[in-house]
Order: sequence, then structure tokens, then C-alpha cells
Amino acid sequence: MSNKIQAIRGMNDLLPKDSSLWLSLEKTIFDLFTSYGFKNIRTPIVEKTDTFCRAIGEATDIVEKEMYSWKESSGESLSLRPEGTAGCVRAMIEHNLPREGIQKVFYQGAMFRHERPQKGRYRQFHQVGVEVFGADTAKIDAELMAMTHSLWQNLGLKNVTLEINTLGSTEARANYRSILVDYFTQYKDQLDEDSTRRLSSNPLRILDSKNKDMQSLINAAPKLMDHLDGESSKHFDEFKAYLECLDIPYIINTRLVRGLDYYNRTVFEWTTTDLGSQGTICAGGRYDGLVEKMGGKSTPAVGFALGLERLILLLEAQGVALEKSPLSIYLVALGDNAQLKSMQIATQLHQALPKAILYNDITLGSFKAQFKKADKANADYALILGEEEVQNNQIAIKPLKGQGEQQTMSLEDAIQYFKN
Ligand code: ATP
Ligand code: MG
Repeated sequence: MSNKIQAIRGMNDLLPKDSSLWLSLEKTIFDLFTSYGFKNIRTPIVEKTDTFCRAIGEATDIVEKEMYSWKESSGESLSLRPEGTAGCVRAMIEHNLPREGIQKVFYQGAMFRHERPQKGRYRQFHQVGVEVFGADTAKIDAELMAMTHSLWQNLGLKNVTLEINTLGSTEARANYRSILVDYFTQYKDQLDEDSTRRLSSNPLRILDSKNKDMQSLINAAPKLMDHLDGESSKHFDEFKAYLECLDIPYIINTRLVRGLDYYNRTVFEWTTTDLGSQGTICAGGRYDGLVEKMGGKSTPAVGFALGLERLILLLEAQGVALEKSPLSIYLVALGDNAQLKSMQIATQLHQALPKAILYNDITLGSFKAQFKKADKANADYALILGEEEVQNNQIAIKPLKGQGEQQTMSLEDAIQYFKN
């Protein structure tokens, strides 16, 4: 066995060759969310295990088997965050923010779940998420859909479908829960092991089962939609009316219950068929009861999280290129004076052309060797500084791609040349 050090299974490096796509994806997302009035929030990666158990719910996959938890010497159990909402809610309550008015926040970062790694499913993965605290109207639920819909358009993504459902009020859900338990109890012999366990702990989750043998049983199950309370039914109608006026197509998926316990009323997922079974790229819903359940003052809330790895896979699958590569210049310098001067010139170029990539040669090789480096860096231009140029206070520009003669000019003219 080799003793080469290796990363942990399901936790990936992002290598330099791939990171520009990530950076431009993140920038597109952050700019869009900012333009909708969302502000960034950053909470710790580690929280008390209890924070996640209370928020996510004991009878969920995450809390039952996916959390990375450990005991401090004090005996307190801590965990790596498996999702971002619990920490956000904890921070809202701790800093009393909802008291100051409606809070629209977005977060980003690594999440950790002990799952079986496969394409689109990792043990460390990255989410960008959005939460709104203090607004209970369907209008804000719809604004989140408008924003995510714009995101797919801005990214040039196709074939993403909005699936929506409503989980009703807590009371309607509790009522439906017992109807569902009665139904599945009749067919107990057809339930698999997971669903049998969920029958007592979290029966709604049976609807979410991916087991093919249970599909007809699940399809025939009573629907929450038929047992909705009046208020939730009105809220859902309003939500749909907004989607229609926004021209956002949707399908109603009555089996959509979401994995986490805290949801009520609106739930939604943006899905694609281009990623195999890991087809959900963005998911969320309303969780009006959570802030109070976590010890805060009752505050309605709604949010979603999107999985960046899956978005990247989808961009790749659909052949979408995000980044336009910026102008790149390799600064070739020969001779001691030219080396000194090249540092000044590089600083001036960085100021004048902040978006350009500038490689100031650090190998100090021959002209020929430096030009080879410029080719390797895939630079658009070489900017040449020899003793003669230094003496004449000039520089030479040589296009490295396509046609064009070498030209000598002042730095000011060169900057103008690149700006054009
Ligand atoms: P799934 O049903 O695929 O397990 P989930 O319901 O557990 O998803 P959420 O908790 O709603 O997912 O997380 C929101 C999004 O984060 C998902 O839609 C997905 O894009 C992404 N995501 C969740 N778990 C993982 C993971 N293990 N690896 C990569 N991305 C993930
Ligand atoms: Mg999951």
C-alpha cells in the first residue's frame, strides 16, 4: 500500500484549473441575490448538535445518520453543519434581528453529511442558501421563485423544472399524518424497512421513498392537498397566481414533502433530468414555526438552498461556458534595469487594467525562455522590456495569438492600446 497522503472520501479538492468556473458561478449568484435586496450572513461551520437536532428534527435522515458529531471534553456534543438554516435561525434569535424588521439574508459555504459518495452527492459539499424572516405572504415565496428562475436564465441553463407543493398548517399536517398512518398501516406488509420505521417516526417521509416496489402504494395514498386548511389553501392559490403572472411554469408534486421536519405551507424543488438520480439542484420552502421552536419570538420564514456541485455538473452537462477569459499579458524583461522597471510597470498596468491577468516574469531566463513561459501561460500579448526600451522609456508589445506585428510605444499608449 502506498503511504501517499490523501483527502477523505467524499471530500474534494477544487483545483486551479476548475476554480474560475466556480468563481464566476458564485459571483453571478451573489450579484443576483444582492440585487434582490439580500445581504450576506456568515455563521460558524460548527454548532451545538442540539441546534441541528431541534431545527432539522430527530426523525430525519440528516439527524439519524448523516451528521459529523463529536463530544468535547466538557461532554457537550458539537457537529459540523449539515445545512445552513439551523445556524441562520440560531443567529437571528441570538442577535434579535427579526425585531428590526424583515431580514433577507444569503449564506454560502461547505456543508457536511455522512452519505454514500456518488456523482452529485458528497460528504463535503457547498450550498448557497437564502432565508427571509418576518414575511408570511405568498408574495415573498413567489419572489424567491422569480429570483431562482432568473438565475437559471442568467446562467444559460435549460431543462430545469419547478415542482411545488403545500404542506398546510401544523394542524392540517398533524391531521393528515394520522390519515396517512391509517392508510399505510393497512398495507404494512408492503412497506420496506425504512418506511416501516418511518410509519411511527415520520410517516410523511414515506411519500418521499425512492423504492420502486412501493411506488403504486404511494401513488394511491391520500393527498395532503385534499386535507388542507382554508388559510393554507388560500396561500397556495396566491402563490400559484404569482407564478402564473410571472410566467414561471410549475408542476404540482403532491409527494414533495422535503427531507427536513421544519417545513409548512409552500415547499418547492427545482429539478433536472440531466443529472441522473441527483436531480434536485435547489430546494426549500416555508418554515413558519421554526424560529419559535428554537426559542425565538414567533417569526414566519421561508428559504431555499442550492447545491453548487450539482449546478456545476449541470453547467458542464449542458455545455454552458460562463467565464469569458480576460485579457492576459506576459511581461518579459531582460537585464537588471529592466527587472526593476518591470515591477513599476506591472504595478501601473494592474491599476490601469484591473481585470487583466498580468504575469510579470519571475524566471529571469533568456528572452527565448521567457517567451516559452508566455506561451505556456496562454497569454494574449507579450510586453517586452529590454535595456534599449528602458533607456528610451518605451515598451514593445507583441501579440502572441493570431496576426499582428511587434510595436514599440510609451506605457501610456500601451495602456490605451489594451483598453481598446
Ligand atoms: P437529496 O434528496 O438529493 O438528498 P436533500 O433533500 O437532502 O437532497 P437539501 O437538504 O434540501 O437536500 O439541500 C439542498 C440542496 O443541496 C440539494 O437540492 C442539493 O442540490 C444539495 N445537496 C444536498 N445534499 C448534498 C450532497 N450530499 N452532495 C451534494 N449536494 C447536496
Ligand atoms: Mg439528502
